[in-house]
Amino acid sequence: MERAVSHSPGVTHPAAALSGVKLSARERLARKAQAAHALKTRGLKQLIMSVVFIAVLAAGWVFPLLGYFIPVCMLLGIGIAAFRGRSWCNWLCPRGSFEDSLLRRLSRQRPIPAVFRGTPLRLAVMGVLMTVLTVMIIRLWPDPVAIGGFFVLMLTITTAVAIVLGIIYQQRVWCYLCPIGTMSSWVGKNRQPLALARDRCVDCGLCAKHCPMQLAPVSMKAAADMAHKGDCLKCSLCVHHCPTAALQWQDLEAKEAA
Ligand code: SF4
Ligand code: SF4
Repeated sequence: MERAVSHSPGVTHPAAALSGVKLSARERLARKAQAAHALKTRGLKQLIMSVVFIAVLAAGWVFPLLGYFIPVCMLLGIGIAAFRGRSWCNWLCPRGSFEDSLLRRLSRQRPIPAVFRGTPLRLAVMGVLMTVLTVMIIRLWPDPVAIGGFFVLMLTITTAVAIVLGIIYQQRVWCYLCPIGTMSSWVGKNRQPLALARDRCVDCGLCAKHCPMQLAPVSMKAAADMAHKGDCLKCSLCVHHCPTAALQWQDLEAKEAA
């Protein structure tokens, strides 16, 4: 049996609650149905947000004020991260949704190179984009239309980069470079972490295979934490695809146990 681990006073590690318990055939069927429903719902939300994204991007060239969509997304994404980690990037982010629902179909699905996940490149991209943005806002001030137009231009250029990288590697590469994503990964690093019941895990690798950020929840079997856990989108794809229910949301379980 797995040893109960306490991550904070009075809170039992949720993985411990599942340890040693085998799923019945009925539970397996119920889980499958739940997972199918959740995946379908997520896919639909992402498709809707993709359409919104393409429409805003195209219309932004005619109505530059639509460019203020970007700072709104930045504030929402980082604000939500303070409570739910990078859950904004799951399906609420229009570009993230576009990547998963449309760009994925063109992607070669290669491993994301470590350099894109590393802090130096992420900091460099954030520094360059934020500096260019600040300088341009100062230069264009106080013309709201020109500033909005610049936001649209930035969104177009970064989306072009996201598409190229997404096709060459994997659809979510840009999510490692996006300044909103980088800031959110810092702000929400310890929010709503995943928990793994080690004795339930059968090393099938399905969690890693289905992760849109190419994270590996299975790695928690050997290590206390998952690498790059701040970049987890809280999408639950790994939880749904795990055949043995070895993965759970730690905060959720702790609440249920309370
Ligand atoms: S680790 Fe799981 S919840 Fe997090 S992004 Fe990957 S599949 Fe989604
Ligand atoms: S999907 Fe579940 S059983 Fe398979 S490797 Fe991941 S945690 Fe282990």
